[in-house]
Amino acid sequence: MADKPWIKHYPSEVPLTYDYPKRNLAHLLTDSAAAYPNQLAIDFLGKKMTYQQLHESSCRFAQALKHLGVSKGDRVAIMLPNCPQTVIAYFSILMIGGIVVMTNPLYTPRELEHQLKDAGVKVMVTLDLLFERVSKVVQPTGIRQLIVTSIKDYLPFPSNLLYPLKAKRDGVKRDVVYGDGVYAFTKLLSRFEPVPCLEEVDAERDLAAIQYTGGTTGVAKGVMLTHYNLVANTIQNRLWSYRLKQAGEVYLVALPFFHVFGLTVLLNQGVYLASKLVLLPRFEIGQLLETIRRTKPTMFPGAPTMYIAMIHHPEIDEYDLSSLKVCVSGAAPLPLEVQQRFEALSGSRLIEGYGLTEASPVTHVNNIWELRKSSSIGIPYPDTDARVVDAETGEELPVGEVGELTVRGPQVMMGYWNRPEETAKTVKDGWLYTGDMARMDEDGFFYIVDRRKDLIIAGGYNIYPREVEEVLFEHPEVEEAAVAGVKDAYRGETVKAYIVLKKDSDADSEELGQWCRERLAAYKVPRIYEFRDSLPKSMVGKVLRRKLLEEEAERAKED
Ligand code: AMP
Repeated sequence: MADKPWIKHYPSEVPLTYDYPKRNLAHLLTDSAAAYPNQLAIDFLGKKMTYQQLHESSCRFAQALKHLGVSKGDRVAIMLPNCPQTVIAYFSILMIGGIVVMTNPLYTPRELEHQLKDAGVKVMVTLDLLFERVSKVVQPTGIRQLIVTSIKDYLPFPSNLLYPLKAKRDGVKRDVVYGDGVYAFTKLLSRFEPVPCLEEVDAERDLAAIQYTGGTTGVAKGVMLTHYNLVANTIQNRLWSYRLKQAGEVYLVALPFFHVFGLTVLLNQGVYLASKLVLLPRFEIGQLLETIRRTKPTMFPGAPTMYIAMIHHPEIDEYDLSSLKVCVSGAAPLPLEVQQRFEALSGSRLIEGYGLTEASPVTHVNNIWELRKSSSIGIPYPDTDARVVDAETGEELPVGEVGELTVRGPQVMMGYWNRPEETAKTVKDGWLYTGDMARMDEDGFFYIVDRRKDLIIAGGYNIYPREVEEVLFEHPEVEEAAVAGVKDAYRGETVKAYIVLKKDSDADSEELGQWCRERLAAYKVPRIYEFRDSLPKSMVGKVLRRKLLEEEAERAKED
């Protein structure tokens, strides 16, 4: 096989290799603030902040964290939707050499407790609206300090118009009790001077973030990403998008920063380019379209569901999408008709890429302005090597054959946090085994064919069947449960539960749904239930999820 056949498709402007700086990731912000102090960094529902202001706030918050005893190597959790405070907290933790642990604001106390305990988090930044849930885990996790912010701190109108969280629907009391280890974000900021600080790091060894993912086996694990990993992936993005303007782009940020796609492709890359980041606290199609009208973004990286929602919006023709230049789809396969329809509507380029948390995340992408191929994830980034191998033997397979995709490059994680055996199974000789089945064509373009791992991706959210199954198993009337992702026109996949009930039980889907809603973030709750007498099993008694999916496919054919 020709060595790296994709290289011939690199535009002449993109170097094959690059010397990625080995330094603190917070340099992304300090450099942009020094070069473009008056450039707008953030637009949050109309509230604006320049790079200088963002930098100053981050320096103040860094001093506050130091004052609270946070030092190099400490893990600090951020449980916030996209808002200015997320960006400030992120860069200030990095500035003092702390390790960022991004947490999904939809998590229930049970999910949160697992993550915080696993990462050994002692300090957490969160939102008043989430306080009720967070306060439940303070004691079991040993959290020492909570820093609580309010969306209102950075809003020109009442927050309930914007973020009707579960807490409100349930009528749960949301008042934050300050004192005794609970601090107000804005008060802390105002107490400290914006003294610049930037801790020296050993960029290839010191962690910038621990990002949680189910990895290939379904148990939530922390992915250790070094400063070097994230700097490299940010610059790889930049090299590939060489025509984008420094201090001239407007990013529409609808992907959450707590997911690695949002973290690297929007936050890190946006700040590195000194772009304006237009933040949306959650994806809501009406608000997204209004925001496009108001802010005229040029860049819109998103998940396929976001583009699907846009093309199907009944009033889409009334919105002018012509400011958009580049849209990047990742996290799940992009259907061809969605790509074509979206491009025709917007006149922009909708480019498919691929990545995973373990690779910071991006490893492959189609060219933006040069050759690209439909239904392909594109070609590897500069300095990234990729091979399709036999999943069992690790032997490289010939062009066109399907095997496990493995990748190697500066963006590949250091390993899983506190899980050396899992790391050894996933990274071998520097090659990351992605758990995705793929093939490469003659030209060096890659195609994802299937997933080895059990991960379900619904609307861009990752769901690990085992976690949902465990919750179902805890129900007193459930004898057996299996969970799988079935095809869904809008969410890509949706969660389906196959249930065997205990004898004489009359539990129904409503009851099981309620049970799950109390214990799992809403996106993980099964939408479809099938009650059966038994589940297909292997010789060793392992439930054959694949068999269930084959049955689904058969049924789909019959319909
Ligand atoms: P995460 O670690 O949450 O970023 O999830 C990574 C997984 O998302 C990958 O291992 C793939 O299974 C899936 N994925 C990401 N991008 C694509 C894509 N373009 N096409 C198909 N699957 C994708």
